[in-house]
Amino acid sequence: MTNYIFSNHDTTALAKKYSTPLYVISQDIIEKSINEIKTAFENENIEYSINYAGKAFLNTAMAKIVNKNGINLDVVSEGELLTALAAGLPAERITFHGSNKTDREITLAINSGVGKITIDSVDEIKRVDTIARSLGKVQKVHIRVSPGVEAHTHEYIQTGKTDSKFGIPLSQAIQSAIMCKEAENINLTGIHCHIGSSIAAVDPFGVTMRVMLELFYNIRTLDIPLTDINLGGGFGVVYLKGDTRFDVNAYTKLLRKELDSYIAKSPDKTVPKIMVEPGRFIISEAGITLYTVGTVKEIPGIRKYVSVDGSLADNPRPALYQAVYDAVVANKYDEEPVECVTISGRACETDTLIKDITLPVLERGDILAVKCTGAYNYSMASNYNRLAKPAVVLLKGDKDELMVKRETVQQVMQNDVIPSWLEE
Ligand SMILES: *Cc1c(COP(=O)(O)O)cnc(C)c1O
Repeated sequence: MTNYIFSNHDTTALAKKYSTPLYVISQDIIEKSINEIKTAFENENIEYSINYAGKAFLNTAMAKIVNKNGINLDVVSEGELLTALAAGLPAERITFHGSNKTDREITLAINSGVGKITIDSVDEIKRVDTIARSLGKVQKVHIRVSPGVEAHTHEYIQTGKTDSKFGIPLSQAIQSAIMCKEAENINLTGIHCHIGSSIAAVDPFGVTMRVMLELFYNIRTLDIPLTDINLGGGFGVVYLKGDTRFDVNAYTKLLRKELDSYIAKSPDKTVPKIMVEPGRFIISEAGITLYTVGTVKEIPGIRKYVSVDGSLADNPRPALYQAVYDAVVANKYDEEPVECVTISGRACETDTLIKDITLPVLERGDILAVKCTGAYNYSMASNYNRLAKPAVVLLKGDKDELMVKRETVQQVMQNDVIPSWLEE
């Protein structure tokens, strides 16, 4: 009998040791992805920085991995910011994002000394400036614009106006830059965009780069010394066999080409530093989720449902956006896939995890390993049905240790309070 090995670890043994449901994260795979991006930029001789998008997966240990690997971090809330600071990540390597930041968050971000705040709307320019002034500080900022390019998987569209809650429309970008210049307590150093997620093709980024370079140039001619262009994240990964993994080498080659043609024709010889913000690309393939099979139910002539001990509470993506996943039976890895089944969660909801997957015959007690769950699983987990959140175990070489403890039902209940009129 052969068990499924993930990142040098026997996953059946991990399930036994830590119990299920269990998120498993491989530091080796995270570091491989980070190095892949670094190498791609270095090969093309592009000045760059990588800002890992913390919303994909963040906890204190993950922030330490970010720190150790010398990359930067994007945060979008007080919780993510405090997690990063608690891990010892220098504040200047943190960028604070968000389309509706609270005054408290802006104050905390400036007071902590974050490297940049990405301004997401025209009204936020004044808010950040005012708060920075009240704290006696000057805050570096980027402005997020909607470049009029929207990409998902293989397709992208270019529109004159982007209908989105995120960013400042391109038509207001110049005016916003001037407002930043006139504001005394902010210092505009870059422009930012993020065109979508799970993008497999590199070409939408070529178009985006051209738009951003033109804006970069136009803002610099206003005597605003921009240095950075942030192209956002969105690099796609392989969820199912046959998916195309984002080609980072082709991406940096394309950026190099756009930079070269910009340098050739621009009277301004300033070459922007390029920033990228991958979340999924760094963490997705580094994670799997282990579940134990429970009830197996055959609906004669229709379908066989196999229920696992997880649910949409630990992976809401199939329910949220029909996300698809691949899985293997960890303790029957060498057995032939012989039957088509549907994997369901345990929640009181039709929480189909995987519809129609062909696997070896599943029985109660088998361990199912769902692949590519590192991104937007743990970070999106809830307590639906008052389920406690699974533990997260980190693998490094042949070592395995917890990075997040399993939540207890007592912790789920701990914020419950009883209004006086219900007390007897
Ligand atoms: C979500 C997000 C990212 C990361 O997206 P991925 O698809 O996980 O790479 C990066 N930048 C911004 C501004 C985002 O909102």
